[in-house]
Amino acid sequence: MSRRTLVVLALAAIACNLPQQLLRLWISPPATPTRTVANTLPPPPTSTAVHTPTSPPLATPSLDPNPLAAQVMAMRPEFAGDVGPFSSATRYFIYADVALDLESQRAVIEGVARIQFTNLLEEPLDDWVVMLWPNNEQYQSQMIAGPIVIDGQTVPAVLEQAGTAMRLQLLRPLAPGATLDASVPFTVTVEGPMRPGNPKRMTITDDVLLAPTFYPVVPRLVDGEWQVMAAPPGGDTTSSDAALYEVHLTVPAEFALAASGMEVERTENGDGTVTAVYATGPVRDFAFALGPLELTERNVDGVLLRAWVLPQHADDTATMLAAAATQVRTLTQALGPYPYTELDLVDAPDAYGGIEYPGLVFIGTLGGFSVVEPVVHEVGHQWFYGLIGNDQLLDPWLDEAAATFTEILYYEAAFGPQRGTTALEGLRAIVESQAEDPDLPVGLPVGEYENEFEYAVIVYLKGALFFETLRRELGPEAFEEFLRAYYQDHRYGFAMPEDFQATAEATCSCDLDSLFDLWVYEGGPLPGP
Ligand SMILES: [Zn+2]
Repeated sequence: MSRRTLVVLALAAIACNLPQQLLRLWISPPATPTRTVANTLPPPPTSTAVHTPTSPPLATPSLDPNPLAAQVMAMRPEFAGDVGPFSSATRYFIYADVALDLESQRAVIEGVARIQFTNLLEEPLDDWVVMLWPNNEQYQSQMIAGPIVIDGQTVPAVLEQAGTAMRLQLLRPLAPGATLDASVPFTVTVEGPMRPGNPKRMTITDDVLLAPTFYPVVPRLVDGEWQVMAAPPGGDTTSSDAALYEVHLTVPAEFALAASGMEVERTENGDGTVTAVYATGPVRDFAFALGPLELTERNVDGVLLRAWVLPQHADDTATMLAAAATQVRTLTQALGPYPYTELDLVDAPDAYGGIEYPGLVFIGTLGGFSVVEPVVHEVGHQWFYGLIGNDQLLDPWLDEAAATFTEILYYEAAFGPQRGTTALEGLRAIVESQAEDPDLPVGLPVGEYENEFEYAVIVYLKGALFFETLRRELGPEAFEEFLRAYYQDHRYGFAMPEDFQATAEATCSCDLDSLFDLWVYEGGPLPGP
């Protein structure tokens, strides 16, 4: 098979959150791949930014006597019981008005997030943090938030990390087990269109508004400290625990609205807008898209796949749905079930190869050179990142190497083992010929690789080869047992590399230290195929 074909096959592996322009370079890479990011960020908002939303009201949303009833609707019936254990998880009630002006290519999302947060530590918490991710370089949008009211009192806030983190010194420490109730008004301004070569996470592309993580999100507590670190370019940005979301979006009725979770209520407001309410079940983020998209649905073993595609890409709808259906079946068998009612696949032209969010993935390549690979990669992330959480900044291999390896599982399921072998050979050929240092370990944080290209080659491609090596080391049956145990132990939760290794070692009753050192922690020469 020609080198070019091998490379094209391997494009799959770098589908996620990398510029398509970079993907194309793989076919004929220049000596030094570069990515230009225009610095068009507005100055960070100040901590004194005061915002008075016109709607919705700050009034406390009325709480249902059975507050988890709507959440259960987002789950397939056999997984309804998965919601109950999250009664102490963070709960978001988000009310937002979305204005999308295609003439000026500008969108404004204005709303209030009511957040109920319970201190699950054994120590009191003196401060509390929400992340304003639209201010991050990868989003290139502008978000202001505040004043924040907690338990009826306005609490001063300071901004950190170039406006992406907002920290509040609590007026009273939050005792272990206690819950704070915060109202956070916010406004996000999004400018489009996305320019070729300068992809953004949050933008307007071909008249579709992409709006991931548009609300103030509570970061993770790691060793008692809020994780507020800046995200380096190229990798994923957020790291958050599973929470329950109820999101009320009021949008122009003329556009289609796709969102994480399940639509549980819709109201025509009589003024050209509709309000749709979404519930999610336990998920770690929420994203939506708004635009002239057309919906095609397909049910696969109890999961409703919803393809939202621009009319000019309608020819790719069937391909996208077929690939997603096969991948849902493949990963259900390999790991365990997708427990949510729906999975949305959204046409997001040129938004990288694709980007994953819980229950919703953006696919950037419809109408282009590769449709199947980004789809199966991003669907793979519903298991690795969505269900089994990991630190996407510090341990990106846990979801990116895994999602790339799910492409191999897809090839094997769809076309037989030989196709999987061919794809793995393609990955190996690229690692050997394109990596500046193929000896690098796959387990470094995003920011410790020399550049995005090296990050992609090592974490995605070499990382998938590590999964294949682990499969050979354990043997296919024990490897399957390992994947199912890893899913069972960590679904809705968070896994660290040591959890991954411990589960593998428990499966084989063997010591894998030297294998993990060679591939994950220390690195070394790529062993022969
Ligand atoms: Zn990915």
